[in-house]
Amino acid sequence: MPAKPARETSRSATTPEGGARRFLERWTSSKADMDVGGPDGFGSPEEAQSLLRNFEESGRGWFWATDVRGFLTYLSPPVLTLLKKEPSEICSQPFLDLFSRVENDASQRTLPFILTKQSKFDDLLLQAAADGDEVWWSVSGRPFRDRAGNFAGYRGSGTDITNMRRSAQDTSKLATYDTLTGLLNRLNMSKLLDATLSAFKVQTRACAIMLIDLDRFKQVNETLGHPAGDTLLKQVAERLVKTVGDKEKISRLGGDEFQIILPDVEDRSALGDLADKIIRNLSQPYSVDGFRCIIGASVGIAVSPFDGQGTEDLIRNADLALYAAKGSGRGRFRFYSSDLLQAAEERRILESDLRDALANNEMELAYQPIVDSKSNVVSGFEALLRWNHPERGLISPSLFVPIAEETDLIGALGIWALQRACTEAVHWPGKLKVAVNVSPVQFADGSFPKAIENVLATSGLPPAKLELEITEGVFLQDSADTDSIFAALKKIGVRLALDDFGTGYSSLGYLKNAPFDKIKIDQSFVRGATVPGSRNSAIIAAIVALAEALNMETTAEGVETIDQLSLTRDLRVSHVQGYVYSQPVDNETLLANCSDGDWTIEPTGPAVQRSDRYAMFRKIAAIHDNHCYDIVLRSLSATGALIDGIYDVPVGTKFVLDFGDGQLAVSTVVRSTGSQQGVEFEERLVNDGNGGLCTNRRVSPHMIAAAGSSAAFLSLGAHSPSNGDSHRGALPVFRTVNDWKAG
Ligand code: C2E
Ligand code: MG
Ligand code: MG
Repeated sequence: MPAKPARETSRSATTPEGGARRFLERWTSSKADMDVGGPDGFGSPEEAQSLLRNFEESGRGWFWATDVRGFLTYLSPPVLTLLKKEPSEICSQPFLDLFSRVENDASQRTLPFILTKQSKFDDLLLQAAADGDEVWWSVSGRPFRDRAGNFAGYRGSGTDITNMRRSAQDTSKLATYDTLTGLLNRLNMSKLLDATLSAFKVQTRACAIMLIDLDRFKQVNETLGHPAGDTLLKQVAERLVKTVGDKEKISRLGGDEFQIILPDVEDRSALGDLADKIIRNLSQPYSVDGFRCIIGASVGIAVSPFDGQGTEDLIRNADLALYAAKGSGRGRFRFYSSDLLQAAEERRILESDLRDALANNEMELAYQPIVDSKSNVVSGFEALLRWNHPERGLISPSLFVPIAEETDLIGALGIWALQRACTEAVHWPGKLKVAVNVSPVQFADGSFPKAIENVLATSGLPPAKLELEITEGVFLQDSADTDSIFAALKKIGVRLALDDFGTGYSSLGYLKNAPFDKIKIDQSFVRGATVPGSRNSAIIAAIVALAEALNMETTAEGVETIDQLSLTRDLRVSHVQGYVYSQPVDNETLLANCSDGDWTIEPTGPAVQRSDRYAMFRKIAAIHDNHCYDIVLRSLSATGALIDGIYDVPVGTKFVLDFGDGQLAVSTVVRSTGSQQGVEFEERLVNDGNGGLCTNRRVSPHMIAAAGSSAAFLSLGAHSPSNGDSHRGALPVFRTVNDWKAG
């Protein structure tokens, strides 16, 4: 059938009615001629025409027709509107021009191919050649033939499937895993967390999440390149799967951030152990493209329903905990607690104060003796930074050095400490040496050896009297720079000590290459060494053997008790630094004690190590016989506490101490004098990841709600006893300090 003249087609398509009618006429007249025809129905052609018109108008589908050359002879009006075309423009246009893109899978023929083969086609996905938002159609077509059986063109229909396609895309995106690591991706993890939390809310079950952020990953990415960074991330993912044991619980949220979901886990000692294990495993060296590199990890933990019941709250709180973990020195885990928001704010203030600290003369140095363990004679001193803050008093370097490292303040601070230490040490008598801590950030600066030369020149200190304490952090990556800096320092003639040995990513490899004069054994080894069953003493013995073989000295750090001192002596550790000899002292005290040329110190201290006890003054609540008393916590250890505020409590009385945030500890009074009682806990407290303690389990908001008014006094936020109101719950059995004050 020959093509209709353009004018006629255009006229017929200008009004929907005309278009539909014309199309129907053609459809019915040629139906018998098509190789595949529509089904025979019943009813008048007028009825069919009106149905087709309704269909076109409803927007659910459209029709098209071409001539033998593939030029359009008919197109439904809604499509004309979409393409912003006049009927006159479209009628001499190739059918193919309606589409900007064809979505084909490999098994499908392309549309041009189908058209030249004059084959029928069904449901081809084609994108409309329209401006603006993407529009996708599903298009079908049938060839039709004239009476002589010759191919005369195509007729067909199309439907808009844009929305369907979009939601199908979303679904498939949700189903995909992180392509790099094969772990769940962010979307999938958040879906999983949503589903778990809403189901668990009904079932009153707990669910923990951990957010993990890699420390120093950025540096690896920058120095070794992004492909190496990717390889490293894959290895991290493998280690995580190995440690956690279930791949389906771990996701990569993007970059170097990972998340783990732990359904039905609320036990904080188990969570702390797992976080510790993750940090340890991720901090072991990696081999990436032949390079050895070392990164670390920090972990933030939040547990539903205690720390948030919805996904958003829980993630935000785990994130706050992660931020706090990073802020407290990296390589740590941290549980969420309600005071973290305030802590984050304080850190921000500290950072801004630190910028002015040097200019305001707020920095000081304290010197801690390093003592020959056999003779008790001081061989030198470690210079330790102290920040004398105008409002907060002395601030520990473990708090501000990490901030300085993150904010580029460490350079100036480090040089100041070096200069001050050398200028003062020049006036020390005899062979006394000074040890100065060097941050890995400071060390990595190529100009560091030059700075050391300058300091020695201006102060006049002989190089052999200066010892630089360097942590394992400098071996982040094997780089030619690290080696050349070591070589330059050795050439200058200063001594080098490897600080905090055994805490990070200890490797014997770098002991072989780097020219250290001394290994400092970290406090954490000394701390547990005298506890029965500890393997720490075997580790110390091995370190000493290694050091002796390499002709290096050893210093045991943080020795506090007499039994720790005898153990380190038995293990042939050559030097000792710790409170058992002396706390850090100021330069005047040092000079006064060394006036004879040297300083011999008799060790003093407790015979054995006691469980760490924290002195404090914190308001908490004690519950007894359904009555809640406001009391003060005076000291706390993992096994017990000293409380103050209630009079004449008999030994053996049981209290439930409420530390806030749903933390309750069942305890028994073992000592009692006046308003103070020593109590012992039924269950040990556990490490909170921040040098403090927390209860292993907590009372969930669900349980408190279920207990109703009888537990209404339990605090779920930070504990805030109401002023003077110590008579909550049932009538009190004991008199309190407040009663006494009231007369
Ligand atoms: P470090 O180099 O391992 O220093 C030893 C730390 O252990 C000091 O803490 C010291 O006061 C403490 N200590 C010594 N004996 C005992 C003991 O018997 N028991 C206990 N519990 N602690 C003991 P400090 O002064 O708070 O310094 C902490 C860390 O801050 C240092 O650890 C060091 O890494 C860093 N730091 C200190 N001064 C500087 C500095 O000038 N530059 C840099 N980059 N870091 C510094
Ligand atoms: Mg040190
Ligand atoms: Mg140390």
